[in-house]
Amino acid sequence: DLGSSLRGTLDTLRGKSRISEEDVDEVVKEIQRSLLQADVDVSLVMDLSDSIKERALEEEPPGGTSARDHVLRIVYEELVGLVGDSTTIPLEEQTIMLAGLQGSGKTTTAAKMAWWFSKKGLRPAVIQTDTFRPGAYDQAEQMAERAEVEFYGDPDSDDPVQIAREGLEATADADVHIVDTAGRHALEDDLIAEIEEIEATVDPDRSLLVLDAAIGQGAKDQAQQFDESVGIDGVAITKLDGTAKGGGALTAVDETGSTIAFLGTGETVQDIERFEPDSFISRLLGMGDLKQLTERVERAMEETGDDEEDWDPEDLMKGEFTLHDMKKQMQAMDNMGPLDQVMDMIPGMGGGGLMDELPDDAMDVTQERMRNFEVVMDSMTEAEMANPRSIGASQVKRIAKGSGQPEETVRELLDQHKMMAQTMKQFQGMGDGDMQRMMQQ
Ligand code: GDP
Ligand code: MG
Repeated sequence: DLGSSLRGTLDTLRGKSRISEEDVDEVVKEIQRSLLQADVDVSLVMDLSDSIKERALEEEPPGGTSARDHVLRIVYEELVGLVGDSTTIPLEEQTIMLAGLQGSGKTTTAAKMAWWFSKKGLRPAVIQTDTFRPGAYDQAEQMAERAEVEFYGDPDSDDPVQIAREGLEATADADVHIVDTAGRHALEDDLIAEIEEIEATVDPDRSLLVLDAAIGQGAKDQAQQFDESVGIDGVAITKLDGTAKGGGALTAVDETGSTIAFLGTGETVQDIERFEPDSFISRLLGMGDLKQLTERVERAMEETGDDEEDWDPEDLMKGEFTLHDMKKQMQAMDNMGPLDQVMDMIPGMGGGGLMDELPDDAMDVTQERMRNFEVVMDSMTEAEMANPRSIGASQVKRIAKGSGQPEETVRELLDQHKMMAQTMKQFQGMGDGDMQRMMQQ
């Protein structure tokens, strides 16, 4: 399936510290495939692709971030930007009007939303104004009954505006008024005129456009027209329990400058969810579970920390090289590769010439030694980390005991640090001219 091939593509970036244009193209292609299949509008997909490409190649991955996490984070941020936040639905007194074509799921959604509000401790009422569709009254009444909420309608009236007005009066004790409207099989002038009149009468706090998840290109026209006539504040996507992923609704969101409020996931009144960007993105991408993705992104951000904590290879060239620096560098190496490769990334240092001049073991810290060194460092005080020269024999003893490592390891760490610090100093002492001369040799 598409999700797993996207995962696979992302995984090929796992070991890389640099990302190429081909890598980004590959990831973007997978995302495009998933989104287009989910009915997301082509131009939206293209805009998203461009932003991902541009950012992935132009933005510098924060220190210690692998190419994979860097791209994941950008993909995630861009997708969140595309689907947007959930429409704000305050838990207070309000009137909500539903608009949409016939069969989109308005009446069902009205009852579902009423049920949802009642579970939140509010007192909702459904007002049914559809005088167009035979059986509309009975259907709405039954659903309201199932949701155990107040209901108003008039099966004998053919004046939706009057029903709306009387409905608000009759249910004045309710906190939340949900006004269901009629639809047509297509957008027609009389439908628009009718819904405009109802809107003017009930003066809703928010109007939601109800869209079938299977809607594709048609979403644009509908969204535009309903937005022009009554103003759309949010979208409810229905029938997400089917095969459709609801990507068409993003066109409506884009077109109306609104957000998604609710998702319908079945025929019963309980089958309603508030929209959550994360799980919706999972659905769009066909990835069963976005949790892993978001957790990775969060972890990558945590590891990077705030700007102050960012570790930049170029920092090595400035100031005193402390044990803090050494620790950060060891952690970064886990993600960035061995130190000699890290040094290659520093402008003016690549190309090997300079690196080859150094004693081999100056930069050599094996994985196992690194782990032991980290344990040792954890037993040091702040002052010792900042000024390792202050560590004498008695401190070595204390640190060894505290870390459960032999004193030998503590001394090795200190020796290693000294060697690295000297190497750094050597680099620091060089002006640009010296550097150039050495490179040319
Ligand atoms: P309206 O014409 O806009 O009021 O649409 P309805 O509420 O009458 O719904 C039309 C059809 O879609 C009905 O058969 C509903 O049972 C069905 N429906 C609405 N929402 C959902 C949903 O989330 N899942 C499924 N499976 N069916 C739904
Ligand atoms: Mg209806």
